[in-house]
Order: sequence, then structure tokens, then C-alpha cells
Amino acid sequence: MAPPATPYPYRSYVLVSLAQIARNYRQVCSVVGPDVAVLGVVKADAYGHGALAVARTLVAEGTRWLAVSSVDEGVQLRQAGIRSPRILVMGGFLSYEVGALVEHDLTPAVHSLEQVLEMDALASGVTPLRYHLKIDSGMGRLGTRATAAQIAATIGRTRHSQCEGLMTHFASAADYSSPQTGAQLACFEGIRDELARAGIRPPYCHTSSTNAIGYGRKEGWHNLVRAGHALYGYVSPARGEAPPQLLQVAPALTWKAKLVAVKDLPEGALVGYGGTFRTPRPMRIGILGAGYADGIFHRLSNRGKVIAAGRLTSILGTISMDLTTIDLSHTTQLAPGDDVTLLGSEEGASLDAQQIARTAGTISYNILCSISARVRRIYV
Ligand SMILES: *Cc1c(COP(=O)(O)O)cnc(C)c1O
Repeated sequence: MAPPATPYPYRSYVLVSLAQIARNYRQVCSVVGPDVAVLGVVKADAYGHGALAVARTLVAEGTRWLAVSSVDEGVQLRQAGIRSPRILVMGGFLSYEVGALVEHDLTPAVHSLEQVLEMDALASGVTPLRYHLKIDSGMGRLGTRATAAQIAATIGRTRHSQCEGLMTHFASAADYSSPQTGAQLACFEGIRDELARAGIRPPYCHTSSTNAIGYGRKEGWHNLVRAGHALYGYVSPARGEAPPQLLQVAPALTWKAKLVAVKDLPEGALVGYGGTFRTPRPMRIGILGAGYADGIFHRLSNRGKVIAAGRLTSILGTISMDLTTIDLSHTTQLAPGDDVTLLGSEEGASLDAQQIARTAGTISYNILCSISARVRRIYV
């Protein structure tokens, strides 16, 4: 029996279940308990799910904190009407962005003591500017490497700004074969405690994102956690002897593409650029109206799978910018205009971002964030 014709007239689209994102958010809240606030990370267009729709969903769930990467992402949320929750800008800001931070009530993560002073100078005269100071506790990316004494001296000189949070980011939270997380936490706590002795007690301390939540590193939860990947249904696989994973979350996104052609090839025919696939027997092929410009990794050429007529089937030949060829030898059900599943499940078969990432030699975050802007987002 032919599957029902799709109601969505797009060559490639994603269906995002906002109800599933809400369930995932509630799951994170229930795992961390009532004493820990959950900040919803919606950077990078909510990992491809659509920042505005996800932000609205989380606000309806009662979140008081959202986070984005850049000032620009924060401004877009504010301009679209996201008013009440605080918005943390995690990826740093540049001097020319300070005006927009103030104007749109965005809360920056500050990564250097020079920037603390710069903000304080710029904040004079306006409403007190709150910021979260990020400590580089050993990841070697953003954050200050200053000592607690230097931090305390700097904060002591500020008059118009408030250090509202102290934060750091773990480099290896899912890796139980590495001592890095314990070392980072010890560094962070040492600075936190020394600042407290100097009378500096920021209301929020936060160090954990999805993996530190999922694997129950409770000593890293403090009173706020930053959940991104978990909201979208994923926790990274652990390395080493990890404790049980606590989060029962499920993917919220299904990605489809339409067949634009179906045809039969004889044995020995070449498929796609470079002729990298030759049919070993007569084959039925389907040409999908989506390619690497939509976010299908070029690395999946001759390697990846999709789900067609309820079964996993192979990508054949080289993925093109706008087209991808697949094997349809197993079915006569599909015709041009029918949908194939690139990520999601159909009948018994399923394909999630982690499986695709393994085949493509990358991580699930990268798969989700690569679904391009021309792929329609539909909220269900
Ligand atoms: C992206 C990001 C997060 C969220 O991480 P997930 O693993 O997606 O939960 C948390 N904190 C910082 C600083 C980030 O950049």
C-alpha cells in the first residue's frame, strides 16, 4: 500500500515537536530537582530547531533563563518579543556590541578582567549591568585565567556593574576515563570559595551542560545548569566507566526530503559526480531534492543511509549540492513527490543524529546545526 501523500509541499523540511522539547525540558528540571534552575540553551537557532519557537516553548514552561551564543542572537529574540526571561550571551562580546547588550537587556558572560572594567565604565549612568564571569578552569577556551585575588581586586573596583554569576564550562564531562572534569571543578570551587571569603558571592554558580547533568555529576550542578543538547533529545555517549545516564529525553526533530525522480538503471551504470558508484546489478534509484546545501554531509557519499518506504537504504554515489541519490531497489511504492526520511523514524526503522554522526565522522551537535536555513521548519 502506498504511504499517504505528504501534506507539506517542500522539497526538504523538518518537523519539530515542540511538545517533545517541552517534555525534555521538564525531564531536565525533574532530574536536577527544585533547587537548581534550568537555563535553556537556544544558540545556533536552537541547534537547528528554530530559536524563536523553542524559546517561546521554554518560556511557556516557565524558564527564567535562556542562553545564546552572540549578542546578535539575543537581539533577535528580544526583537521577536521574548521579553521576560533573562538571556545570557555565552560566546563573548566585542566592544561595539555593548550598546546592544544594554539596549536589549542581555546578560553577557564576561571572559576577562579588562572586560569587567570596560563594562563597568560603560555602565555608569545606565541601569546596573549584570554579568556572569566565566572562569577558564582548564578547558583553555573562553574565560579568565586570573587568580581569585586578582578577580576580587577587579570586582572591588567596579561601581556600576554586578557580578551576578560565576561560571565555567567542562571540556570532558562525558569522559570517565579522564580526570579533567574533577580538576576543572576543583579549580572552579577554589576560586568560588576564595571570592566568598573576600565577600564576593555571586547569586548564581553554574558549570554543567547536558553531559554533566545526564551522567549525574551533581557536584557540578550548583544552583543553575545550562541544558542544550538534552532539550533536543540527546546526551553524548560516555567514555570509560560512567554511571547510569539519568535523562530520559527523546529527539524532537524529523527531517524529510522529497523524491524528485525514480528510475531504473541497468547493471554497470555510474551514479553521480566522479562516477564513484557503479551499479552491481540492475537497480531502482531515487533522486532526492536535498543535498549538501541542505545540510546532508558530503562525507555521507556512498556511506550514509536514509529511510525509504519504512526501510533503511543506502545513499549511492556522491552527494550533490541539491540532490542525493538513494537505492530504491527494495520497493515499488515510492514515486516522485513522496517523502523519504533523512533523520527520524518510519515504521520500524530509525536514524538519529548520533547514528548519522558516526557514519559522517562527526558529532550529533554538528548534524543538527548543519540543517540549513532553506530547509523549512514546521512545528507540530
Ligand atoms: C553550548 C553550551 C552549553 C550547552 O551545552 P549542551 O552540551 O548542548 O547542553 C552550555 N554552556 C556553554 C558555555 C555552551 O557554549
